[in-house]
Amino acid sequence: MIENVGLKKLSLVMNLPNEVMVVNPVLLWGDKNAYVLVDTGMPGQLEALKQCLWEEELTLNDLDAILFTHQDIDHIGNLPHLLSEREGERPAILAHEADKPYIDGSRPLLKFNPQRYETLLQTLDEKDRNQFLSVFSPSSSNNVTHLVKDGDFLPYGGGITIIHTPGHTPGHISFYHHASRTLVTGDAMVVVNGQLFGPEARPTLNMEEALHSLHKFTEFDISTVICYHGGFFEDRPNERIREIIAEAGLTM
Ligand SMILES: [Zn+2]
Repeated sequence: MIENVGLKKLSLVMNLPNEVMVVNPVLLWGDKNAYVLVDTGMPGQLEALKQCLWEEELTLNDLDAILFTHQDIDHIGNLPHLLSEREGERPAILAHEADKPYIDGSRPLLKFNPQRYETLLQTLDEKDRNQFLSVFSPSSSNNVTHLVKDGDFLPYGGGITIIHTPGHTPGHISFYHHASRTLVTGDAMVVVNGQLFGPEARPTLNMEEALHSLHKFTEFDISTVICYHGGFFEDRPNERIREIIAEAGLTM
């Protein structure tokens, strides 16, 4: 049952050939019944997303805005399919300026070489492939309608503060949800086997910058962390974040 304002972690499950992939978008609601989805999942996760919304008695048409933490395919990849199934106007789409051209499709994704891009396209059926190309193409209209930057306060979910956390990508953002004292990290941190860690090295473009970005989290009083990869962490998050910063050899 949805209350006036709030935040909920969603879980999108996808069975890949060698693994089960679970990612965790977030749903925010409040501000005159505005529903905001944070990240959309991979291409192929639309049915899982619809199921999560359905459990809240919502459909794709109820989404007023989509906030992207960054440009990676597992965060933006479901957007074309979401837009194609939705009726009526496009939702507002928010992202940081530094990742906007990639989310718009006007520049190739930073972590995708042409071969990897081609491989991804081959996994889609023709209809989905055409839809994907029409949304993420230099010739299509821009996807991002509003820019967010460090320190912005948005009314979503009763109030969130945007935290620019570059490193994983240049325009990576996280945010703090004030009412629930929840930090939504995107990929700035991960949870593995129940423990909270800093950014995963392999997909992080600038590790030093990504580690420095963690300092910003220490300004918030956090009771719950939600990582896109790994989900919840609730065991004294501020202490654990300080520990990670110390382990990385960064001074406060
Ligand atoms: Zn990711």
